[in-house]
Amino acid sequence: MSAGGVFMRSLVIVWLALFGFGLVIAPELAWAAEFPRGEGFYFSVPKMLAVLAYFLVWLFCCGWVDADAQELDLERLTWTGMTIAGGVVGLWLFWLMPRFFIGYVLALTLLAVPVFSYLLGRDAQVDPVQRVLTSRQFKRLLQKVFRIDLGVPDEPPKAKPVRIHFLPIGEERPQRNRRLQKARAQRGYRTLQMLLEEAYRRRANGIRVEIGSAGGMVHYQVDGLPHAAVVLGPGRADGLVRVCLTLAQLNWPANGQRVRGDFPCQIERQRYRVRVSFDRQELRSHLTLRLYAETHRVPALRELGFAPVVVQQLQRILSGQRGLLIICGPEDSGRTQLAYTLLQAAHQRGLQATSVEWPCDVHLEGIRWVPAEPQANERFPAALKRVLGEVNADVVLAGDLDSRELFSVACQRAAKLDLLLIGTITADDAVQGLQKLFELGLTPAGFARLLTGVLAVRLVRTLCPACKVKFKPNPELLRRANLPAERVQFLYRSPERTANQDGVVSCISCQDLGYRGRMPIVELLLPTDELRELVKTRPTPAVLREAALRSGMRPFSTEALRLALEGHTSLMEVASYLQ
Ligand SMILES: [Zn+2]
Repeated sequence: MSAGGVFMRSLVIVWLALFGFGLVIAPELAWAAEFPRGEGFYFSVPKMLAVLAYFLVWLFCCGWVDADAQELDLERLTWTGMTIAGGVVGLWLFWLMPRFFIGYVLALTLLAVPVFSYLLGRDAQVDPVQRVLTSRQFKRLLQKVFRIDLGVPDEPPKAKPVRIHFLPIGEERPQRNRRLQKARAQRGYRTLQMLLEEAYRRRANGIRVEIGSAGGMVHYQVDGLPHAAVVLGPGRADGLVRVCLTLAQLNWPANGQRVRGDFPCQIERQRYRVRVSFDRQELRSHLTLRLYAETHRVPALRELGFAPVVVQQLQRILSGQRGLLIICGPEDSGRTQLAYTLLQAAHQRGLQATSVEWPCDVHLEGIRWVPAEPQANERFPAALKRVLGEVNADVVLAGDLDSRELFSVACQRAAKLDLLLIGTITADDAVQGLQKLFELGLTPAGFARLLTGVLAVRLVRTLCPACKVKFKPNPELLRRANLPAERVQFLYRSPERTANQDGVVSCISCQDLGYRGRMPIVELLLPTDELRELVKTRPTPAVLREAALRSGMRPFSTEALRLALEGHTSLMEVASYLQ
């Protein structure tokens, strides 16, 4: 039997016991007035029915408050206890009152006080949509009971629950796991489950909670953009942080400090690594959860929608060129995924592909993983150097090279020219990426000898295929986007929607965002002879960019425009690339 069933059953037993006890200490109340009795009923039927109704209402209130407080991570024991006590004390006074009516009103009041205090308290802690003491909810109730139309739409049907499991870390035992048991007993557990559930439904890969004295504001990161969603009361926000820190085995940081860690979890059938970052500040703290899917599949190079010429150039690099290939992009631009797509492409061409990343969440068939895990007293650059020195492969992914130290380790290894070494750095476009490489210590000679290419990547949101709208653009819009009006017949955009307060979505596919998923666009800078000569003169970014474009680099703007013209995305989405 479920916990709720046991709870309800014990409540019924307690109530019946009290009822019996009441009969023993004040039996005359249940009897009719005259004694000895005549024929017929010895108790009043309406009064008995009234007491029975009171009993059922009390039972329902206890069950509802208990389930609701558990669901919302509120003080469950306190509120359920108060509701039970309200009913019990109410019944007690009811037995003691000589007048039925006075006793009954008193009993109802004693039940109503804890229940309404709970409702007021809970509504202050939850999101407006979840509140119950609102005129909207009241109208809904009237509509339902009296079957009239007050113009309030029915509550949307509850979505199917999402299964979420927190998993053991490394050698931890799956059963009787202390860390998981502790987290389960903490107050924010349900809130964390609720946020992960919602993130899964919205296809969000990040959750950011801004926590101030009034509570927490939750934003879901969907396709690279934040969407404000729920408000958490201060108690729930605090509980959420504590449960995340427990799961990631982190300590509560001092004011002004930040802690980072991660924990594994499974949502439906997909395993994720949840990266926790908590930045504690005096006035406003931030909790960030990023979800990394442990994937066994990345798209093939041909599935990414790159221009055919770019695919050919990449395949040429992957079929036997030696040296350094740098992938650059900002945070959350799909750099790592693209790197694995390239490894996979190399593997499919019969080359030995290896990843030396640490940690690593992508495990693909045919791609060896040699973890660059630091040993005792070893720093990460040293570990990377050791592992890169031993590795024997045609194409090696070395992961993030964003520091001088890591980059020089990678350059030393690539200088042997017996493999293609792929690394990632943070930069906005290919020319910026190249400049950053010079800042990290690349020399013009190294550029000429080692570099096979700088591949910049960005993600562009794609229009939801279920609700995108085809339209004939007006010439003014095309002129502003530098498009020839005679060549563009149609474009696509997301539908215009007004905000809906009831949480009812008109497009399930994209949850009314108008976009669903993202596509990469790339800029591939190849080291041509002209560029090799040019970099010796330490050119400005503008000069470098012009030279790169002259030597055949397709810029982001061309690629973004192509996606818009092919109907994958909207002009609005790529407007920032077109200027
Ligand atoms: Zn849609």
